[in-house]
Amino acid sequence: MSDVLDSNTVIRPVLENIFAIEAPCEPGVDVRALLVCGERSTLLIDTLAHPSQLDDVRELVASIELPLLIVNSHADWDHWWGNAAFPEAPVIAHHLTRARQLAEGQRSLRSRQRKDSFFGDVMLRATTIAFEGQLDLDLGGLHVELHLLPGHTADCIVAYLPERRLLFAGDAAEDPIPLVGEDGSIVAWSETLRAWATRARIVVPAHGSISGPELLERNARYLRDLLSRPNAVVPELVEATSFYKRAHRRNLKRATDQAES
Ligand SMILES: [Zn+2]
Repeated sequence: MSDVLDSNTVIRPVLENIFAIEAPCEPGVDVRALLVCGERSTLLIDTLAHPSQLDDVRELVASIELPLLIVNSHADWDHWWGNAAFPEAPVIAHHLTRARQLAEGQRSLRSRQRKDSFFGDVMLRATTIAFEGQLDLDLGGLHVELHLLPGHTADCIVAYLPERRLLFAGDAAEDPIPLVGEDGSIVAWSETLRAWATRARIVVPAHGSISGPELLERNARYLRDLLSRPNAVVPELVEATSFYKRAHRRNLKRATDQAES
């Protein structure tokens, strides 16, 4: 059994009919999914790192007695390895996510299983419905728009609930800092975050505190500074864990590579 991971999951209300679902994914790091309960269907955006972390969510969803849809925000392991907790539910994601799940999923699972027996019984369940561009879902009384927002990875999407002005950012925004991927424009990412900050009132990242549009503004400024002021002091890192201090050094290197190419 893992020393650090377990199936202890916290479900807490964010707004009426919307719940955050949180569980550990790395030592000292939690991952968050979002459950949105419409009048006709229920939507689970992301499924944490292990199906067993969704036991309580399965009970909750069963008590609602409406069809369940799953969305995967991107193909990083801590956001979709719980898909098999709901073997019947359609899994919706961007086609780039489906391609990554099929190409990298088994390899990345085997590598994590070698390090941590907690993952020994994970069965991967990839996306069943892939989309391109934007996808709008009508859950009954609540709409969810899925938009591509590359930068952390090329396949990252965000989910926006216009009636609640709530943005589930996945890993496209992160508290304290976002993690820059190997490809994708940092400038375009930063500008898109600023545009979302004018629309969203509540911002739910997959890692770190739930907040308002200021998280998007802060991440956007951080990303711009990586390119234009690489030596600037980063206030977000003053109290950050070593995980994020390492991430910042990697971000700087990727920003330098991007500036030179
Ligand atoms: Zn993540």
